[in-house]
Amino acid sequence: MSEGSILSQTFQDLEAWILEKKRPAFHAGQIFQWIYKKHHLNFHEMLNVPQDLRDHMEQEFSFPSWQVEKQQSSDGTIKYRIELEDGQIIESVWIPEEDRQTLCISSQVGCGLACKFCVTGLQGLKRNLSVEEIVGQVWYVRSVEKLPVSNIVFMGMGEPLQNLQQVTKAIDILHHDKAYGIGRRKISVSTAGLIGKFQTLLEQTRVNLAISLTGSTNESRDYWMPINQKYNLEALIGEVKQIAHRFPKSIMFEVVMIKDQTDTLEQAKSLANYLQGFPCKVNLIPYNENPHFPHLKRPSSRSIEQYRDVLQKKGIRTMLRRNRGNDISAACGQLSKENKSIS
Ligand code: SAH
Repeated sequence: MSEGSILSQTFQDLEAWILEKKRPAFHAGQIFQWIYKKHHLNFHEMLNVPQDLRDHMEQEFSFPSWQVEKQQSSDGTIKYRIELEDGQIIESVWIPEEDRQTLCISSQVGCGLACKFCVTGLQGLKRNLSVEEIVGQVWYVRSVEKLPVSNIVFMGMGEPLQNLQQVTKAIDILHHDKAYGIGRRKISVSTAGLIGKFQTLLEQTRVNLAISLTGSTNESRDYWMPINQKYNLEALIGEVKQIAHRFPKSIMFEVVMIKDQTDTLEQAKSLANYLQGFPCKVNLIPYNENPHFPHLKRPSSRSIEQYRDVLQKKGIRTMLRRNRGNDISAACGQLSKENKSIS
């Protein structure tokens, strides 16, 4: 599927392909610009590219042919439900704000990590996404819908570090200045904590890494995020402390605040202990309720603020994530092929 996709070609891949056809490599820049800057879908319209190359492209490459459904939230957020060529379904979410437009994209169909609060996890892992399917989510919004995209977050469906090779290649394409030129610091990859892969991702891409903690004691995290049974908090935070100095300001933590579970003062104190004296940032995400886990609730603002105060008193930068797209099940953790209708 991805073999013949033009969107799976890095700039270097395309240069090599052009050289094989005995044409000069600089045409790669023109082709990238036609696709990513001028938003053209037809190889024959790429007028400054020699005719024979255009013919070869026509024969060998294609653009994705997906069925896409859109839902728009009252706050402007748009959820895209994409049926891929093999019928599998993924979702992306476009989030407009005053100073930026963020696209939240998926890296896998489903997810195998089974976090006990996450709807995507209920599906299990179906498969990894190809480079085309990752780049294509941005291409669809930017080049087909013609909406601006300034930031990309890999916080949709799936665990990006389990699909590291395709994610890295996709970032290479999305960042390229002849493509969308999205800055490395405007791209964030969120992980449930596959610690052996942090360094590789950061070395190869220099993007931001967000690490989902949620449980802030081992007992709690073992339950909510079973991956903790393999890489516990000591191992996870130990790894971050070891590599953080090489990637300044690139790593942050995310904590999903679930009422009376992960939002307690005991949890806050435990996290403050783990992170004390270590320059880092923590993002608190109030739980987005959903019908799959009716017993899990969003905490009151007061208990979130109390949690935040415990961290801030220890000098840990702590922020609260705004909740977007809730009315169309587009908020964090609500992405699933099941959520078809507006709630
Ligand atoms: N597998 C990666 C990326 C996908 S999840 C990871 O675990 O980081 C992206 C973020 O959404 C994670 O921080 C996750 O903890 C959070 N999340 C999942 N379900 C949620 C929910 N119902 N409400 C709020 N955040 C949720």
